[in-house]
Amino acid sequence: MSGHSVTANASAMTETVIAALVDAIGSGSVLTDPADRARYESDWRNRYSGTASCVVLPRSTAEVAKVMSICYEARVAVVPQGGRTGLVGGAIPQIPSVVISLERMTQIRAFDPLGMTLAVDAGLTLGAARAYAGEHDLALPILIGAEGSAQIGGIIATNAGGSNVLRYGMTRQRVIGLEVVLADGRIWNGMRSVAKDNTGYGLQHLFIGSEGTLGIVTGAVLQLSPAPRGVVTALCPVPSIDAALSVLLKLRAAMPEALVAFEFMSAATVALIASQRPDLAAALAISGESGACLLVECEDFTGTDATQDRMHDALGNALETGEISDALLAQSVAQRDAIWAFREAISFAQNGVGYSVKNDVSVPIGRIPDLLAQGSAAIMAICPDAVPICYGHLGDGNIHFNVSPAVPEASAALQGCEPQINAALADLSEELGGSFSAEHGVGQSKRDSLSRLRSGPELEMMRQIKAALDPLGLMNTGKLL
Ligand SMILES: Cc1cc2nc3c(=O)[nH]c(=O)nc-3n(C[C@H](O)[C@H](O)[C@H](O)COP(=O)(O)OP(=O)(O)OC[C@H]3O[C@@H](n4cnc5c(N)ncnc54)[C@H](O)[C@@H]3O)c2cc1C
Repeated sequence: MSGHSVTANASAMTETVIAALVDAIGSGSVLTDPADRARYESDWRNRYSGTASCVVLPRSTAEVAKVMSICYEARVAVVPQGGRTGLVGGAIPQIPSVVISLERMTQIRAFDPLGMTLAVDAGLTLGAARAYAGEHDLALPILIGAEGSAQIGGIIATNAGGSNVLRYGMTRQRVIGLEVVLADGRIWNGMRSVAKDNTGYGLQHLFIGSEGTLGIVTGAVLQLSPAPRGVVTALCPVPSIDAALSVLLKLRAAMPEALVAFEFMSAATVALIASQRPDLAAALAISGESGACLLVECEDFTGTDATQDRMHDALGNALETGEISDALLAQSVAQRDAIWAFREAISFAQNGVGYSVKNDVSVPIGRIPDLLAQGSAAIMAICPDAVPICYGHLGDGNIHFNVSPAVPEASAALQGCEPQINAALADLSEELGGSFSAEHGVGQSKRDSLSRLRSGPELEMMRQIKAALDPLGLMNTGKLL
């Protein structure tokens, strides 16, 4: 890292720099009033907040380049920002910085139906990109609950996962071209719409998952997929985590190409949602006593009942062997929506019962029972008034290992235990051969785990890459490393 001190340079965000930014992109694109800045200074949960020296809202890559070059010359820290739905505080400044929001960069640049590619501005929301693909009978198979706000640049910068990774991979697998404005304002145009490009280092992969610490993603070429003709969705109470893994084996054997989502919700998670969303629970005949549940989804490309029949048979078999205790196979779009709404209600249900601790860990899938048992025991030892809320993408070995207070009054105690809980779960997931952050990234909240658990050459290579691309340490200072 260079010896330049960004903190010392915070004072460089003078009227002169703001005047230069206004001159470059117009006064309507530079927010300095505290009331105008406020919504860019905290995340969607209001868990993280910081101070933006000013917020800039560029409309094009050229404008982003101008902003970056002004900030580089003035040695001013910048924070790239998407939809602020990230869960680790990555998009919120830790020191006074110029926040660069891409929310005005929302153009579809090109669509190629033959190559099934979509070139977009990075500020387009994931939901809008998915809708565009859908209108052309194609799919952008990245499924996350925040798609209405999360931007393409944000999901690339965090390499977002979601509920379809089992079949389609992480965001990284969908990005074939990238445009990035570098720390000094240079533009790298890597917007190639080809699946094959073996011309040296795969530079785009450096920026995917870099959490705004290496450059600003301004455009991307996304690989689309054929749209399924239909989906078959089921909600199944399951007696144990071992039984859940048997069901996964069974479904994979019966329909290997069709299974796209295999989501788990622990008994405590199901009870929490049922208490906070009794309407959804009633619609699905689920109660606080239903126990753990699986959400299973298959895609159908035949346009017939074949996929539904195979899923029906596989689940019928699991019912007979006691691996599931019931199966609600969605019979309508409304019923499918209700099943997904139940799954997506977890974050909001947690908000309803007080403070929540969020962890997002992965282990080799066969170690999931150990992760759940040992992780829950560790949490209870640290904070007896806590309830582990475990759910997530079981098919990928990825569990959102969250924690809620047993009663709202225990919120303060839980908050006090948060660092210990996070450290215990991070240690455990690494011990079991996994990762302390499966898909949410590092940001500010998991930075200590990164420096504690990933030592030696791994951290050194990361620091060398950072120093090469951001020699002045201006990009998203204090995040990740
Ligand atoms: C309800 C909900 C459900 C979610 N579900 C999932 C899930 O299933 N799987 C999953 O992986 N994640 C999930 N997430 C978190 C996920 O990380 C974000 O939703 C998404 O990836 C972030 O997009 P964003 O545009 O909001 O980025 P932000 O939160 O604004 O930013 C995230 C990080 O990316 C950087 N960044 C943003 N835009 C750019 C850019 N253009 N160039 C460079 N850096 C940039 C920021 O500096 C920051 O470090 C969920 C979040 C919510 C709220």
